[in-house]
Amino acid sequence: MTQSVSVHPAIDPGLKPAASNFTGGTLSCKCSDKKVTVSIKGQCAHNHVCGCTKCWKPGGALFSQVAVVPRDNLSVTANEDKLGVVDPNATIKRYACRDCGVHMYGRIDNKNHPLYGVDFIHTELSPEQGWAPPEFAAFVSSIIEAGADPDNMGVVRDRLKQLGLEPYDCLSPPLMDAIATHTAKAAGKAARA
Ligand SMILES: [Zn+2]
Ligand SMILES: [Zn+2]
Repeated sequence: MTQSVSVHPAIDPGLKPAASNFTGGTLSCKCSDKKVTVSIKGQCAHNHVCGCTKCWKPGGALFSQVAVVPRDNLSVTANEDKLGVVDPNATIKRYACRDCGVHMYGRIDNKNHPLYGVDFIHTELSPEQGWAPPEFAAFVSSIIEAGADPDNMGVVRDRLKQLGLEPYDCLSPPLMDAIATHTAKAAGKAARA
């Protein structure tokens, strides 16, 4: 039964549509008091579910839900002193609450990285409705590295397709193309400027 697969609690009931005039929201960590809050201006882009072992997932979820926003649209609005970088050596520095462990945002410091300039966020940390829903599933095979049963992958991929989330074992083709284009330009090999 495909319904028994929990992709992510915010997604299992089905995807909610984006609101047309969405103005943003406030992400809060899971602490009962002195919550870290992060305010986001405007809509997110490239929302997806991710099976990698680095992205923060709610308890019991096979996937994280992660989207990007321009870094200038993100600001930490309360209890920033509780934030720490999970892995300072990772390409994406994930800023997590030291008390509850929730990742509040991820940031790339390397100006030459194709995804420099956007921050990674988990929209389900905000009570606002109307965020752009996930569009695809990234790094699906990686959930095995986090302990998922390899024999259940067919069921997981079927459930993702049922939700309208095409499963990929890297990022989606448009994002992989954008990254490769950036790399080609940097190497002087781009077919078009
Ligand atoms: Zn917290
Ligand atoms: Zn990930």
